[in-house]
Amino acid sequence: MSAGPRRCSRLLIVLSALLISGCAGGGAGVFDGALAWITGLVTRSRGEAIAGATVTLVETGQQSTTDAAGRYVIGTDHRGRGTLRAEAPEFLTLEWPVTLAGGVTTHNLRLVSMADFDAALFRELTGATDTRGTWRWDASTVTYYINRTGAYRPAFDAPLREAFTQWSMLTRRAVTFAEGGPDSAIQISFVASEPCGVAGAAGCAGVTRVTSQGAIRGALIELHAGYATDLGLAIHEVGHTLSFTGHSPNASDVMYYRMNAATAPGNQEAAAVTVLYDNPPGTTLTNVRYPAAQTSAAATAAPAASASIVAPAARPPHAFPAMPAQAPPALSALPDIGAMLRGWLGRPGCLLPLPFFCNSGSSGPTLRIW
Ligand SMILES: [Zn+2]
Repeated sequence: MSAGPRRCSRLLIVLSALLISGCAGGGAGVFDGALAWITGLVTRSRGEAIAGATVTLVETGQQSTTDAAGRYVIGTDHRGRGTLRAEAPEFLTLEWPVTLAGGVTTHNLRLVSMADFDAALFRELTGATDTRGTWRWDASTVTYYINRTGAYRPAFDAPLREAFTQWSMLTRRAVTFAEGGPDSAIQISFVASEPCGVAGAAGCAGVTRVTSQGAIRGALIELHAGYATDLGLAIHEVGHTLSFTGHSPNASDVMYYRMNAATAPGNQEAAAVTVLYDNPPGTTLTNVRYPAAQTSAAATAAPAASASIVAPAARPPHAFPAMPAQAPPALSALPDIGAMLRGWLGRPGCLLPLPFFCNSGSSGPTLRIW
């Protein structure tokens, strides 16, 4: 993602082994101190309340129905690990782990409606084509390492943790993230100046490089220390590591290529990541499956949207160009990445006008630059 008025993000993906690259506790307040209380909001991704949702503490069967503001409250004797299940008509059921030690624990739960799924945006975000599969993590737990040296400050931790939590919830825990050591699959570091290697106004606030071989294998995130407290930036760059190799054309979306006020994925972005992680690595547009139908009649009707995946809507302004027809070059023949990026950044319109495809194909190495 890019900085100030001009933020950009670029993403490199190398297919093949070659690498070029909330849950806050609250005070007891009015709650009975003898019980552990779980409370929070059930909302769509962007925060719109879902009234009438049912939240269940699975271990005890205790339930709460959300009010008009989306709030639920459960008081329980249960201690230790538990599971919250949130259900609402037309939304996909979510289960989320909790730890109960007494007092009040807040868990805000985000639900996804398949009615929000937009096939064109899915294609834009994932870079999926009919012949080349999408990429995603195939591990259920992925570790990330925060390099606390250089330009790092402690204030950078919270946005990253929140970003990983938000995305994990939207995958419905198909993938969860845990902080790990220096050998973690996702490496995050901070630099005092813009990390994209471009000067002046074209500078960027964050850059993510992803390596992939059938599935995502690793990712490197570099954040500009001047912007690394920005939650939207953290969500954007972490979103790239989940295989959102493209950007949203919608200026209010968190995966838009410039920084904006977003502090959560948009509802359509949320539906896109949910669908992606309901499918195995390598899924293509033609064999994508939708999450299992929900119990309500309205929800079972929602997957009708699958008809649109066969013929995605016309692409908005940030459309990919057609794949070049020439055969893939040898990796040794790949041009200098920095020079190539600067060339693309120099084009009018936006910092990241078009992805650059060195080559394409399901078996050969693929390099893409944003
Ligand atoms: Zn980006």
